[in-house]
Amino acid sequence: MNAKVWLVGAGPGDPELLTLKAVRALHSADIVMIDDLVNPAVLEHSPTARVIRVGKRGGCRSTPQAFIHRLMLRYARQGKCVVRLKGGDPCIFGRGGEEAQWLKEHGIEVELVNGITAGLAGATQCDISLTLRGISRGVTLITAHTQDDSSLNWSALAQTGTTLVVYMGVARLDEICAGLLAGGMSAGMPVAMIENASLPHQRECRSTLCDMQRDALSFGLKSPAVLVIGEVVGAVEHCATGAGRGTDAPLRALGG
Ligand code: SAH
Repeated sequence: MNAKVWLVGAGPGDPELLTLKAVRALHSADIVMIDDLVNPAVLEHSPTARVIRVGKRGGCRSTPQAFIHRLMLRYARQGKCVVRLKGGDPCIFGRGGEEAQWLKEHGIEVELVNGITAGLAGATQCDISLTLRGISRGVTLITAHTQDDSSLNWSALAQTGTTLVVYMGVARLDEICAGLLAGGMSAGMPVAMIENASLPHQRECRSTLCDMQRDALSFGLKSPAVLVIGEVVGAVEHCATGAGRGTDAPLRALGG
C-alpha cells in the first residue's frame, strides 16, 4: 500500500461540526499532527493515536513548516496512518495546498478532507446569511495577514459589492477600515466581529465600518476572530431584533 497522509479539516471548534469523513480518518489514525486552533476535544475520535502538537500561532511559539513536512514524511514512510489535522478547512488559509504539494512531490499519497471554515461557521452561528438573497450576490474570503506583510488592495475589495469575510484581521482593523473607506465603502457599513466561532465562549461584537476599531477595543476582541463586513450583517440584525426568529420575518424584511 502507498504511504498516505490525510490532510483533514477539524472545523471551527465545535466538535459536532466535524465531517463524518474526518471522524473516519481520525479513527484510523496512528499519528495525529494537530494545529493550535483545533479543539482538542475532537481527539476523542482517535483514542489510540499518538498526538503531536505542531501549532504556530502568529507571534507565539512556532513549529517550522519544514519540520512538519519532514515529520509527516517520516511517519508516512514508516507505513503509519498520518492525519494532519487543521482548524477549519485545510485549504482556506491553512497551508493545506502547500503541504499536499510537498508530500506528493515526495511520493506520498494525499487525501484532503474538507472542514467547515471559520468564516462561514462564524457567520452562520451568528445568524448571518452571507449571500442573503436580494442583498449580497457573493462572498469574498480574505486574509488581512500576508506572508510578506504587504498590504492588500482594500480599495478594490470595497468595490466588489460582495460580503467580505476577513481572517486574521484583529490586529489590522485600522488598515482595513481606512482601505475600505478609501475604496468608497460607506462608513456605516455593518460589521460583525466574531470571536471563537462555534465554541461555548463564542462572542460577537456588532459595529460599523467607521467604528469597528473603537468597538473592538472596548469589547476586548481577541484572536481567533473573523470579521464579516456587508449589508447582510445589518439585514440579519434587523430580523433578529425585529419580529423574532423562527418566523417569516427575514422574508418580510426583504420585501420577499
Ligand atoms: N484554516 C482555517 C483558517 C486558519 S487561519 C479555517 O478554514 O478556518 C487562522 C484564522 O482563522 C484566525 O486568525 C481567525 O481569523 C480564523 N479563525 C479560526 N478559528 C476561528 C474561530 N473559532 N473563530 C473565529 N475565527 C477563527
